[in-house]
Amino acid sequence: MAKRIYSFGGGTADGDKSLKHLLGGKGANLAEMSRIGVPVPPGFTITTEVCTEFYEKGRALPSELMGDVEKALSRLEEVVERKLGDSADPLLLSVRSGAPVSMPGMMDTILNLGLNSDTVKGLAEKSGNEFFVWDSYRRLIQMFSDVVLEVSHSKFEKALEEIKKSEGVKLDQEISVEGLKKLVTEYRSIVKDATGKDFPEDPRQQLKLAIEAVFRSWGNPRANAYRKINNIDIALGTAVNIQAMVFGNRGDTSATGVLFSRDPSTGKKGILGEYLVNAQGEDVVAGIRTPGPINELSTSAKSEGVSLEKWRPNLYKELSDLVVKLEKHYRDMQDIEFTIEDERLWLLQTRAGKRTAPAAIKIAVDLVEEKIADKNEVLKHLKPGDLDQLLHPVFDPKAERNVVAQGLPASPGAVFGKIVFTADEAERMAKEGEKVLLVRQETSPEDVHGMHAAQGVLTSRGGMTSHAAVVARGMGKCCVVGCSGIEVDSEKGIMKTSEGKTFSKEDIISLDGSTGEVLEGQVATVDPEIGDDFGRFMTWADEARKLKVRANADTPHDCEVARNFGAEGVGLCRTEHMFFDPERIDIVRQMILAENAEERKPHLEKILKMQKEDFVGILTAMHGLPVNIRLLDPPLHEFLPHGEEELEQLSRRISVPAEKLEKRVESLKEFNPMLGMRGCRLGITFPEIYEMQAHAIMQAACEVSEKRNEEVFPEIMVPLVSHPAEFNFVRKRISEIAESTLKEHPNANVNYMIGTMIELPRAALVAGEIAKEAQFFSFGTNDLTQTTFGLSRDDSARFLPDYVEQGILPKDPFASLDEGGVLELVQLGTERGRKTNANLKVGVCGEHGGDPDSIRHFHEAGLNYVSCSPFRVPIARLSAAQMAIE
Ligand code: PEP
Ligand code: MG
Repeated sequence: MAKRIYSFGGGTADGDKSLKHLLGGKGANLAEMSRIGVPVPPGFTITTEVCTEFYEKGRALPSELMGDVEKALSRLEEVVERKLGDSADPLLLSVRSGAPVSMPGMMDTILNLGLNSDTVKGLAEKSGNEFFVWDSYRRLIQMFSDVVLEVSHSKFEKALEEIKKSEGVKLDQEISVEGLKKLVTEYRSIVKDATGKDFPEDPRQQLKLAIEAVFRSWGNPRANAYRKINNIDIALGTAVNIQAMVFGNRGDTSATGVLFSRDPSTGKKGILGEYLVNAQGEDVVAGIRTPGPINELSTSAKSEGVSLEKWRPNLYKELSDLVVKLEKHYRDMQDIEFTIEDERLWLLQTRAGKRTAPAAIKIAVDLVEEKIADKNEVLKHLKPGDLDQLLHPVFDPKAERNVVAQGLPASPGAVFGKIVFTADEAERMAKEGEKVLLVRQETSPEDVHGMHAAQGVLTSRGGMTSHAAVVARGMGKCCVVGCSGIEVDSEKGIMKTSEGKTFSKEDIISLDGSTGEVLEGQVATVDPEIGDDFGRFMTWADEARKLKVRANADTPHDCEVARNFGAEGVGLCRTEHMFFDPERIDIVRQMILAENAEERKPHLEKILKMQKEDFVGILTAMHGLPVNIRLLDPPLHEFLPHGEEELEQLSRRISVPAEKLEKRVESLKEFNPMLGMRGCRLGITFPEIYEMQAHAIMQAACEVSEKRNEEVFPEIMVPLVSHPAEFNFVRKRISEIAESTLKEHPNANVNYMIGTMIELPRAALVAGEIAKEAQFFSFGTNDLTQTTFGLSRDDSARFLPDYVEQGILPKDPFASLDEGGVLELVQLGTERGRKTNANLKVGVCGEHGGDPDSIRHFHEAGLNYVSCSPFRVPIARLSAAQMAIE
């Protein structure tokens, strides 16, 4: 049987950071810290494999587990020289979840385990601090009952409030020892009433129940929801970390805190964090008491009291040295939890800190400059999709700003929306297409779905490491926290500012996540400026990647945007978009409505001139780079007028009788246009249309080449081919036109290619035959997905979400490439094509070209390039780099 438990502490460990899959992030890092001499409370980790066993056994622990736990516990008891359940000097334990992927706040934790009516007295005597011991006990009962026994949290909250009221105090720490003892009795009777049983006294039974509860929490609804949003595999499982407790609430010489080794919002160098004297565990992140700053750098308008740096300079020094050590060791920015127990510093956790995209870029560049990490490492620090944040708008500096309150800038962005006070409301209204801002006193894991649905999040309480701040930052969502100038009453559905302004549900406000300002109404936004660091970072990505990145662009403006984002060519120019121009559409319609080629000719000549100008603009914007232009693809009826009124208007404009028009429109109608006369079928039935386009492309290329005196690289692409003979038919004509145009321009230097899209399964299957005459393939994975699944891309939104919801499909296959079927066609098509044409250039131009998960597959399939929308070009560049580095 595989090893189920890994111990750590006292300067050694069974595991290390490479065992994340088995020990979870937290467990692996505790082991690693212990190995490198960082003071961590000793303990042991139960592996994620046991979690898998737990679920395989229908949510039951494997029978041998508690025997193994007993052995690890004995070792722990030896290291700390205290025993679990010892009534004179008891060892207390923390039991925490820890998955291989960080899921902040999603699963359960139990602290102070091992207290009972016996040990509580012993510990009180031993520590000489009765308040601390009884407070720890009541917290254990509360936490344990909530997590393990599933007794409602609110019952305990009510009892706590009542005690405070009866003693006339406000804060938990002000309750008397007698009050706490009464509270414990009260809590125990709440448990008895709710469960019919006494609160478990036996520490070993507490431990077993707690381990089970942590494993159970891996499958709780909020963890499931979080995994779904973040694409985390349920099969990973969670580990359970059991550690000797250290207490930050042992009086005024104890404290607890959290920090980032660099600013997670901006990336600025220096430790940023918060701490609370005489506090335990989650008090700092829960946002109930406002913490003090770690150092001067962390001092903001919102933090209260003296900094840790001033309060205990020696401990601050020890802590900051450890921070430097950990950053160097892990070669990345760290997010660290620590506790000071009676003047002694312990680190409870370290992990790579979540950060905003701007911070990630700055930190990456700084880490390389400081020689802490190398380029290829830091390229992995940023999820490609997060680059979106850098390309998002910010508030127009010139716009009027009516600031109504000021909070902490937890996660950047500039958003506006209607105020909502609950997560469910946020989700519901967002589904109806509304932009909403979720406004809460503080958020909890139950609010995650609402945060996801909202444009931004505003809380009146909590600090930079509060739940709202951490989760929103991870989502790349604009967030302002700790905005004490507002009072939030979610029951009445109002938010009041200290100046007396009242906002109700659905009033519009704006949030500035970079300054922490709350603004009245909707403030105008502008596009962000991209700094030098971004350029450097992306250059490193370009050095690392093998896959080229092009853009799908149909206009000179889009081409310029794409080029600025680093596109190395156009992977798809959809010519039909040019036909819809209001000045042209009637000519296009006349061309389509013409009864025969002769009648069509004058209209085509007009379109030829326009198309040529389009291509001159595009080829000029992309000079020096390849430009893939696709011949007309959609069914012709798409260009025709719909309805009687439009038809009559057109009839008047082009002086053709309405009945005649109607008849022609009728004759072009198709039952299933997506599978009808579109793509190369048009070019076969109406060869003159493709000939006109080929002409326009080649004339434009020659003109640009002559004018710029440089080589031009047009690629002429035939859509929707399924049979090699279709392609050959069209190719022959285009190539004749190309050659004759070149003859007319002896000074032009045009290096053209003719190729095809592979967007039908048959084309992928016969790719070997097609490639004999095609110079390139471009996988149109939109249509290829549609035709492989037999799933209409225009109608699938009605039922695909159910498929994903029910787990029938892991993801929407139109957004992320289907690994089972469509990917295989891409691989097979590429292989077969290259077999008969070793020089075949292969790309992809479907939406999947900008999706990081799909890019992984395209890289592995050995494609030459991906093509995506201009704004996704940086995302694709980084994804391709990460794939190459992997
Ligand atoms: C495709 O089918 O993947 C493609 C790029 O073409 P379109 O989306 O224009 O059909
Ligand atoms: Mg297509």
